[in-house]
Amino acid sequence: MTNGALKRVGIMGGTFDPIHYGHLVAAEAARVAFQLEPVLFVPNRLPPHKKDYPVTEAKHRYLMTVLATITNPHFEVSRVELDREGYSYTIDTLRELRASFDPTVDLYFISGADAILDLLSWKDVDELLSLCYFIAATRPGYKLNVELGHLTQRYASKVFTVEVPALAISSTDIRRRVKEGKPIKYLLPESVENYIYKHNLYRP
Ligand code: ATP
Ligand code: MG
Repeated sequence: MTNGALKRVGIMGGTFDPIHYGHLVAAEAARVAFQLEPVLFVPNRLPPHKKDYPVTEAKHRYLMTVLATITNPHFEVSRVELDREGYSYTIDTLRELRASFDPTVDLYFISGADAILDLLSWKDVDELLSLCYFIAATRPGYKLNVELGHLTQRYASKVFTVEVPALAISSTDIRRRVKEGKPIKYLLPESVENYIYKHNLYRP
């Protein structure tokens, strides 16, 4: 942006195992609603919480994220978590990204409503809120659940919501479908679908 106009950068963190249209639609909806430029996709190296299954090698998740975002000129992929040793804590990533941008740049962390509830129940919540804004992606017509409602009220100046149409897609479901030999077409970009088959991911 020119003339010292305030710049807003979006951050979409995830395991992206694999990346799918839910992630892409949420990021694009947030980008348009909040004029984010660019949106950085940040694949994690080792997610500290969740994941009751062996997460796919980082190299594959990174390349699938690159393939999926390549057709959008406003999307970029960041290696900040992949290149840091150990577990990927969002707070570390936000500190690192915050320090790498000019103070006039505002950061917006985009996530699903589920993930934001997790994130903002952590002990670092005050620091998190000092580092960036949060955008929770929710489905149209979906009544903000009580917890999310409380959160958006309590942190009204820091936590926003954006409606996205594709929330029913999940990586878990896509992995299960591949394992069972079911189609995954139209749930994720064709380039990512081809990558999964080429490298035999998610097969038993
Ligand atoms: P898994 O099923 O393995 O948990 P996932 O589909 O939830 O995978 P993640 O990589 O865990 O994908 O999610 C990264 C971020 O994207 C999280 O903030 C999550 O809430 C959000 N997200 C995941 N699926 C969707 C979706 N369909 N629509 C909008 N946001 C989503
Ligand atoms: Mg998830």
